[in-house]
Amino acid sequence: MPRREVWHNGWWRPAHALASPNFGPRPAQTAVTLAVIHSISLPPGHYRGDAVARLFTNRLDCSAHPCFEGLRGLEVSAHFFVRRSGRVLQFVSCEQRAWHAGRSQWRGRDNCNDWSIGIELEGLEGDAFEPAQIQSLAHLLRALVRRYPIAEAVGHEHIAPGRKGDPGAGFDWRGLKRALREGGPRLPVIEDRKA
Ligand SMILES: [Zn+2]
Repeated sequence: MPRREVWHNGWWRPAHALASPNFGPRPAQTAVTLAVIHSISLPPGHYRGDAVARLFTNRLDCSAHPCFEGLRGLEVSAHFFVRRSGRVLQFVSCEQRAWHAGRSQWRGRDNCNDWSIGIELEGLEGDAFEPAQIQSLAHLLRALVRRYPIAEAVGHEHIAPGRKGDPGAGFDWRGLKRALREGGPRLPVIEDRKA
């Protein structure tokens, strides 16, 4: 039997695909060179529900919880969502531009959505993430760098400082580096934090 390709039109086969209408074309001749890591949970700190998947597919009932009111009419997405279990969902083809970064700039270049992949981790900004998520994220990043010229992975906090703080201080960049071994993109400089 022929070996099935890992990627198909920008969709990663190991992920559970759930197509979002919230995407658009990337500008012509735009290489995907950045991965942006985010955190999200709805309601914040509540895991295992389907509110994030509903938000990214415009199916969230905004009257279901008081904290959803501010999300009414919001059209957002990410390419990937990594659940606490490590399970990976994909909402937008990597060939397309997802709507995750907003106003952003990295290394002097703005509109990061044009030239990045957005990866949301189920979690709470500033809190720790599950080891299974770091392993899944490393697996995904290794697959991404084999398929796209992604040189670097950063947090939303790095490309929108002062406006965004995710994934925050609880995200273990050092653990991600270990999980990637030699196979991933460049990561932000991790400063030694002495206890
Ligand atoms: Zn974010």
